[in-house]
Amino acid sequence: MRCTRDGVRVTEQLRLLDDDRPKPVSDGGFEMVIRESRRAKSLILQMIPPYTLEVVVPRGTRPRAVKKFIDDNHRWIEKARSELRALYPAERIAPPTEIEFAAVGAHWDVRYVASAGRKSRLRSTSHTIEIEAATDSREVSELLRQWLLAQARIYLKPWISREARGIGVKPNSVSVRTQRTRWGSCSPRGNVSINASLLFVEPDLVRYLFVHELCHLQHLDHSRRFWHAVARHEPNFKSLDRRLTDSWSAVPVWALQR
Ligand SMILES: [Zn+2]
Repeated sequence: MRCTRDGVRVTEQLRLLDDDRPKPVSDGGFEMVIRESRRAKSLILQMIPPYTLEVVVPRGTRPRAVKKFIDDNHRWIEKARSELRALYPAERIAPPTEIEFAAVGAHWDVRYVASAGRKSRLRSTSHTIEIEAATDSREVSELLRQWLLAQARIYLKPWISREARGIGVKPNSVSVRTQRTRWGSCSPRGNVSINASLLFVEPDLVRYLFVHELCHLQHLDHSRRFWHAVARHEPNFKSLDRRLTDSWSAVPVWALQR
């Protein structure tokens, strides 16, 4: 079993399955993707901030059944769209002029310079980032996301290793990714994955997520024994868990954009 931290509040049916590549389907403006999954047992709708609605379908589902499912859920879809619009208004979509990592108290000013060649580039020092890129905002987002991943490896990997030593566990591997729907996960093989966007949230939340995923190395479920283990290392886990679930608004749009 895997642990999931969902990004959006209204989605009780939100479940996270990320095998297979999404298949885009045009849906007048808002992007909707249909993704076939081996693990899905039923059709699932989920929001992927900032602009995507995803329908996860069990392998072999007929297109007609998918269409009916979308039609049957049009109210939920409308509601989801207006939530996403409210969460990600146009101002949040502009390229950033500064970046703040609340997790580690680091700050960068971001400057943009006209691109001299065809290739876009990002250069960073300890306090400034200079981006040389075309006008395409997705290109800027992509550069920043690669930079974010590198920063997360620098800051978060040693941190989770320290927490693992404190708890007395050893993950098989730790990988850093930029995900839009969860903060972290732990596989049955002991591979822990952490979201680079944890850098945008408060340090106590980062530590809690680490404790949570690392405790899954001992209990691969959300049983009482699991929560007992979490409580031993973080007595305040309930409120931290709630705060972390509510923290997606701290993640800038460029870190979510694809
Ligand atoms: Zn979990």
